[in-house]
Amino acid sequence: MSQTTSPTARLMDGSALARRLGAETAERAAALTARTGQAPCLATVLVGEDPASVTYVRMKRNRCAKAGIQSRHVALPADTGTAQLVDTIGGLSADPGVHGILLQHPVGPHVDERAAFEAIAPEKDVDGVTAHSFAAMSLGMPGFASCTPGGIMRLLDHYDVELSGKHAVVVGRSAILGKPAGMLLLARNATVTYCHSRTTDLAAHVREADVLIAAVGRARFLHGDQLKPGAVVVDAGYNVGNVGDVDFASAAAVASLITPVPGGVGPMTIATLLAQTVDAATRLSGAAG
Ligand code: NAP
Repeated sequence: MSQTTSPTARLMDGSALARRLGAETAERAAALTARTGQAPCLATVLVGEDPASVTYVRMKRNRCAKAGIQSRHVALPADTGTAQLVDTIGGLSADPGVHGILLQHPVGPHVDERAAFEAIAPEKDVDGVTAHSFAAMSLGMPGFASCTPGGIMRLLDHYDVELSGKHAVVVGRSAILGKPAGMLLLARNATVTYCHSRTTDLAAHVREADVLIAAVGRARFLHGDQLKPGAVVVDAGYNVGNVGDVDFASAAAVASLITPVPGGVGPMTIATLLAQTVDAATRLSGAAG
């Protein structure tokens, strides 16, 4: 019923906000380079040649170049083991010419991904994947946010979404997306419910959401008829065919605000990575403040 009577939701335009953030980041990178004589540098580490991962890394390096951030790429063969990967990342962590480290994941089932992430020095963890960064996020201490959740928070703030006292429902609990997204929302005084594959009666939880974060990895998994009218819908999903985890047409008829896919959360993720790389370079160069 609500689908036919509710106004169409306003779009949260991640592409436009990412362009703004990218321009600010480029200005900060240029100023830092002028002050220190060294451009911020992001090291990207890729294991194997998975086409999607190759594309993601290329996109991130292209954005770096546009923002005046150097990138140093380390391509490792697909059969690289945990010890060698940890060793490589440890070397980048100790290298004063590198300010941020991105390990493109997934790295393959034969690698202990957690061990590889933990080899990233916390002060260079600009992708926000280490246990240190997660704890800092959860405890409200200085540190880097996981990039996708960090980008989501920037979007919500830009569109003045009130979070305090609101019920946020996060569908998905991965270490890089769902779990940290919930922690950041909790830190902003939302009441947070996590849903996952073992949740019983998912629909009942989704119906209660003032703010819904979809982070499932299943195309068009959530529909407008499940939403509370006026909900704010953030679709972090990115599935085959460029579709999100939310059925956009039906959800947009019920929500008050919604992210498109593509053009919502995705661009904000990369923009946050670059902004955090300049933050890291600024702190490591002692040029902060
Ligand atoms: P993931 O590691 O596969 O996690 C998926 C989560 O969804 C898990 O917590 C899983 O529950 C839950 N789930 C699966 N089936 C479910 C069901 N039927 N009902 C309720 N929950 C269910 O995926 P991810 O890395 O978090 O990524 C999620 C999506 O976001 C993907 O589409 C991915 O491409 C996208 N993504 C986008 C960006 C971006 O920059 N835009 C960045 C990262 C990821 P269990 O924990 O119980 O298994």
